[in-house]
Amino acid sequence: MMINLENKIDLKGLEYSELEDFLISMGEKRFRAQQIFKWLNSGVTSFDEMTDISKQLRERLAELSYISVLEIEEKYVSKFDGTTKYLFKLPDANCIESVVMRYHHGLTICISSQVGCRMGCRFCASTIGGLYRSLTAGEILDQVIFAEKDMGERISNIVLMGIGEPLDNYDNVIKFLHNVNHEKGKNIGYRHITLSTCGVVPGIYALAEEDLPITLTVSLHAPNDTIRNEIMPVSRRYNMDELMRACAAYHDRTKRRLSFEYSLIHGVNDSLKNADELAELVRPFRAHVNLIPVNSVEERNFRKGSKKDINIFWERLTKQGINATIRRELGSDIAASCGQLRKRAAGIADDENNQKNI
Ligand code: SAH
Repeated sequence: MMINLENKIDLKGLEYSELEDFLISMGEKRFRAQQIFKWLNSGVTSFDEMTDISKQLRERLAELSYISVLEIEEKYVSKFDGTTKYLFKLPDANCIESVVMRYHHGLTICISSQVGCRMGCRFCASTIGGLYRSLTAGEILDQVIFAEKDMGERISNIVLMGIGEPLDNYDNVIKFLHNVNHEKGKNIGYRHITLSTCGVVPGIYALAEEDLPITLTVSLHAPNDTIRNEIMPVSRRYNMDELMRACAAYHDRTKRRLSFEYSLIHGVNDSLKNADELAELVRPFRAHVNLIPVNSVEERNFRKGSKKDINIFWERLTKQGINATIRRELGSDIAASCGQLRKRAAGIADDENNQKNI
C-alpha cells in the first residue's frame, strides 16, 4: 500500500478490492467503493468534488487518504495529425511524458512506467540520466485519467511504451493493469493494451502466469547477440537464446501472438544479412515485426537510413513470409518520441555512469 509522508493512503494505488476493504474498515458499506472508484477515475482532484458522498465521509477520507494528481506542465498538439504530447508533473516535481495518438479506431495513449530508465539502450533518450524512480500504480493510471480529462474524449487503447521499462516496475504495472481494466473504472479491455519490454526475461515468465490477454511486444532491435550486446546492455544479462525461450514460453502459456520491435539503425543492424537473421529468429512465432526508423537522439550518433534502405530491409523480410510493417511517424513536428521532453525539462546531461547495473 502506497503511503505518503503524512502517512496517508494513495487511493489510486489500491486495487478495487483493497479499496472496498479500506472503506469497510472505516465502517462503510462495500458499494461505496463503486462511487469512489468512479470519481477517482474521472480525474477529481479533491474529495469535495465527490458530490454524492456525505460531507462527513469526505472529511474522514481526507484525513486518512489522498488523491494523486498530475499537472500538465507542457502540452503540444501536432498540426499534422493531432498527436498530443503531455509533459506531466508528478507531486515530487519529477516529470514524465505521455502521448495521445489518433487512429481510425480511436485514441491510443502511450504511457510511462518509470521516471527515467536503467536499461541503458544506447539509442534511447529515456535512459540518459538513469533511473530516478518507478511510478506508483496510481501514477501510471493518472496518465490515462488526466489525458482523457484534458482531451474530453475516451481513450480506448493503451501502449506501455513511454519512459521506463514496465517489467522493471512489475508489481505496480500489474496493479495498474487490473485497475485500468476494471469495469467500474476506465474499463479498457486487456486486448486493447500492449506492454513493451526490452527483454527482462524473468518478467516475461512472470507475466505469462498473470493470465491477462494483453499484447506483449519485445524490443529486439538486433538479430544476434553481438549487435544486441552493443546497443542493449540488457542483452548481456539475458542473451538472445534465453530471450527467445522466454518468448516461446509466453506464447505457449497465453496463446497470444507476440510482436517484435526493431529500430533500424543505419550501418548497425540494417544490412540484408541482418534481415535474413531476423527472419530466421522470428519465423517460429509467426509474429508481427514493427520496423521503426530510429529517431536520432542528439547525444548519440545513431542515424536512420534513407527511405529506400528501410524499404529494402522491409522487402527482404516480407519476401521471406515475415509479417512486417514500417511504423508511421506521428507527431513529427512535436518531438513525439518519448524521453526528449523530460530530458530537456529536467536538464539531464548524458552520463554513462547514470546507467546502473541491471
Ligand atoms: N522499455 C520498454 C518500453 C519503452 S520504449 C522497451 O524497451 O520496449 C518503446 C520503444 O521505443 C522500444 O522499442 C524502444 O526500444 C524504442 N525506442 C527508444 N528509443 C528509440 C529511438 N531513438 N528510435 C526508435 N525507437 C526507439
